[in-house]
Amino acid sequence: MCKIGILGGTFSPIHNGHLKIAKLAKLQYGLDKVIFLTSGNPPHKKNQQVLDAKIRHIMVKRAILGLDGFDSCDWEVNRGEYSYTEDALLHFKEVYPDASLYFIIGGDSLRDFDTWHNPKGILKLCTLLVYDRNGAAVKSDFALPIAGDKIEISSSEIREDIKNGISAEDRLPSEVWGFIRRNNIYKYVPDFEEKLKTMLTPERFLHSLGVRDTAVHLAKLYGADEKKAEIAGLLHDNAKNTDNIYERCRDLEVELDEYELKNPALVHAKLGAETAKCEFGISDSEIINAIRWHTVGRPGMSLLEKIVFVADLIEPNRKFPDVGKIRSIAENDIDNAFYECVKGTVSVNKKRGAEVHPNAYKIIAEYSSR
Ligand code: FE
Ligand code: FE
Repeated sequence: MCKIGILGGTFSPIHNGHLKIAKLAKLQYGLDKVIFLTSGNPPHKKNQQVLDAKIRHIMVKRAILGLDGFDSCDWEVNRGEYSYTEDALLHFKEVYPDASLYFIIGGDSLRDFDTWHNPKGILKLCTLLVYDRNGAAVKSDFALPIAGDKIEISSSEIREDIKNGISAEDRLPSEVWGFIRRNNIYKYVPDFEEKLKTMLTPERFLHSLGVRDTAVHLAKLYGADEKKAEIAGLLHDNAKNTDNIYERCRDLEVELDEYELKNPALVHAKLGAETAKCEFGISDSEIINAIRWHTVGRPGMSLLEKIVFVADLIEPNRKFPDVGKIRSIAENDIDNAFYECVKGTVSVNKKRGAEVHPNAYKIIAEYSSR
């Protein structure tokens, strides 16, 4: 029978200590493989800001690149709701009906195991393996110990060190360290405006402030979340002046369509959604989507997405023939303003002989039938 170990965690970031625990468990219990299960939004960290799950999971995949007997799982990442250990185990039971499952936890988790969601159910689905990071011997009636030395590495210390400019290279798989450095992760600052200023040309920065103010104005008008409008408006173009955009997209696993692959000017929206996570620690999906869809739009745009899309075109620094007309429509009808913006973009592109993104036609069909 196949023996599968599961090591779940936030992995922000995954570090050499996690890999060591997985290797020890594999060796000591003859596991065929250990799967790193990246958490989506862990229930016990509801109120804490955590780096976006997709970015954390990329690091997990990079950490085990080329290592035999290790795998990763993004089931919780893609789930979009809170999941309990029991849910994850049921998922693995479905994927591997004939395997016996070993769930690897830390000594501190073992101590409050009875407070977990349905502990009895968990124990029916798997064998618990416990590693005490202080190297202490684990005694338990319902869990088996993983023997090993003290592990001095902690993700929170790594984050703190990186923020303070201290290298964490010695504690991280090299692929993970490289990824963190290239994408400026964990260097969040409270002042987004100051940071953005260093990333953009002066004109682009000014435009961003205009979009922010206009987005906040529209949010007030239409009852959208003003704080989210402020952040999305300010950061919508954060990747606009980025070098090597296609290389950055590959690194951050941004999926581009054929139009974006041909037209670099479109790419900053999707790339910017990911860099907002890395550079600014944004994980709110509404903000992320408003950044992601601000250029080509998509059918079924949310109110916040429409607000940022429209604000991008009508902010005070914008000058084009119909801007006054759209500005006044935006005061009364955000849907109509959005529709006008998309139609306007299509006609400008056609006049230029440029290709029109198919999303524009989908949006026009959606709104013309209203
Ligand atoms: Fe843009
Ligand atoms: Fe813009």
